[in-house]
Amino acid sequence: MRFDVFTLLPETLNPYLSASILEKASARGLIEVHLHNIRDYTHDRHHTTDDTPYGGGGGMVMKPEPVFEAVETVLGSPPVCPVILLTPQGRLFDQKIAIELASHPQIALISGRYEGFDERIRQNLVTDEISIGDYVLTGGELPALILIDAVSRLLPGVLGDPTGAVDDSHGLGLLEYPHYTRPTEFRGQRVPEVLLSGDHAKIEAWRREQSLRRTLAKRPDMLEKAELTAADKKILQKIRQEER
Ligand code: SAM
Repeated sequence: MRFDVFTLLPETLNPYLSASILEKASARGLIEVHLHNIRDYTHDRHHTTDDTPYGGGGGMVMKPEPVFEAVETVLGSPPVCPVILLTPQGRLFDQKIAIELASHPQIALISGRYEGFDERIRQNLVTDEISIGDYVLTGGELPALILIDAVSRLLPGVLGDPTGAVDDSHGLGLLEYPHYTRPTEFRGQRVPEVLLSGDHAKIEAWRREQSLRRTLAKRPDMLEKAELTAADKKILQKIRQEER
């Protein structure tokens, strides 16, 4: 899968992209991340990418010309793939959106700075707007990395364990069950016996119940949208009764 990131600070993304799983995924040809500096698409002596807002007010606004030119030069006009504006005003990024994006062979991400973008970028260039949370950052570079990371690990071959992304919290609409590793006993606390039993059916059942317990305790809102079996509903009923 190919990611094209349009930003004023491409150098801020490189350290993360060139480490860990994303670097390995790149080296193996599973992902390609192309960083484009919007400033390279300016034509004045000062390489201006921002200007004061019409109507007054504080802060600077990203000019439309270099952003349009950067995107259209790299991706054609109209662009060949989804063009996503990273903005706190976009739809809230979640695992479902990550899965949806992972189905595209290519996506483009536009990272802002300053007060944000000239509205015509939103109106006439982008096909989607995504926010990574209800808070405001200084720029769209961290949101771009978050999105690339979350989408890349869903691609076949990127994770060592192909089932990892399915079991993850949010992958199946529930929070993930607790994990344990060696030692069997640590500071007086033992690993639950069922995990040492070697009985895979029992382990599966325990993990499902733990997922349901955690989700009910920490994120009950997720249960409203999760796909629950009749057995899941029975377990939830039992947990609720225990709590009374
Ligand atoms: N004035 C803008 C507003 O209120 O919508 C916020 C601009 S913010 C200081 C600068 C840039 O950071 C944005 O253009 C966007 O690219 C990025 N950004 C900040 N918070 C973000 C978030 N929660 N999700 C995605 N991008 C964000």
